[in-house]
Amino acid sequence: MSKTRTIRTQKIPVGILGATGTVGQRFVQLLDGHPWFEIVALVASERSQGQRYLEACRWLMPSDPPDSVINQPIVPMRPDLPVQIVFSAVPSAIAREVEPQFAAAGYLVCSNASAHRHVEDVPLLIPEINAEHVTLIEQQRQKRGWSGLIVTSPNCAITGVAVALKPLDEDFGLQKVFMVSMQAISGAGYPGVASMDILDNIIPYIPGEEEKFQQELQKLLGTVRNGRLEPADLIVSASANRVPVLDGHTVSLSAGFERAPTPAQAHAVLTSYHPPEICAILPSAPDHPLRVRTELDRPQPRRDRDTADGMVISVGRLRTCPLLDLRLTTVTHNTLRGAASGAILNAELLVAQGYLDS
Ligand code: NAP
Repeated sequence: MSKTRTIRTQKIPVGILGATGTVGQRFVQLLDGHPWFEIVALVASERSQGQRYLEACRWLMPSDPPDSVINQPIVPMRPDLPVQIVFSAVPSAIAREVEPQFAAAGYLVCSNASAHRHVEDVPLLIPEINAEHVTLIEQQRQKRGWSGLIVTSPNCAITGVAVALKPLDEDFGLQKVFMVSMQAISGAGYPGVASMDILDNIIPYIPGEEEKFQQELQKLLGTVRNGRLEPADLIVSASANRVPVLDGHTVSLSAGFERAPTPAQAHAVLTSYHPPEICAILPSAPDHPLRVRTELDRPQPRRDRDTADGMVISVGRLRTCPLLDLRLTTVTHNTLRGAASGAILNAELLVAQGYLDS
């Protein structure tokens, strides 16, 4: 089946909450020319309201902003937008308040914010590893009486770890993870970390990040039974660091399993992993979510973050571990796969599964 086939005769109107920010700009870039979606509403803070997009936004992407948006006005953050899907890229405190208002008013909310990631009936989605978690939406709607819904994308650093560990968990039974993240500056939004703090330096603390890793990995690798999510039974020990890299989060990790894989077995399992069939018709899904590198010095953020338009997670340095069982390194583009592209893929999954019509 063709990925670019239009499953509707008309494009679906969408809005972006936080359209002027680091992730919001990625949404604008990616949704311009998207085969299913069309940007109709751009939303930001009160500071930006009423201005044209180009005036309100300090554009940080490598190419110019699309002509279709530069003159669009920034509109207020109210659930009366002429759209069906809302992509949310606002600070978590704002998301906590406004996303339920949009869901209650019938919008499909695909969020990048952390506000609702841990809520039991809100799916934390990566379609290639847990597409079946969308079924939690039934419980969400029943419980809250919403005609819309909220789904969330995971933390940008745990995304690549989860995709790399899912095939290994299926075959060898994941029990423990020891991980050290080296996270890019763009992960802190704009203007983010002051240059005087990050140049020639590493900051060994990112507020709230290490706690998110354990909770989110357990949820991502969990199982839905009888309409409820059972989190995966695993322990995560994490250290999060901010490093002077612009884009692309690198994670070095050791993993312990019920049955220890050899590096060769791990390589075979990672390269032969098959995402759920539905991913084949989602326009943003890469042919394979993982690229396993065998060079001694890969993956690296600058060289590997843009693989398949930033949608593929690069994995390498597969080797035995004297403490746990297996060591590996992942690189994930934080504002693409780890944020905007991941949320767009979630929206495509919702559309493909008929949530726009129900
Ligand atoms: P950012 O660059 O600081 O952008 C924040 C956006 O939210 C801007 O459009 C801003 O509009 C808007 N905003 C701020 N305060 C607001 C308010 N009171 N009411 C309405 N809009 C408001 O942040 P970001 O890095 O894009 O992150 C956005 C969200 O995505 C956060 O929840 C973050 O945790 C999450 N996330 C980020 C990444 C990443 O790699 N950066 C990855 C995954 C998830 P103005 O321009 O008008 O101020």
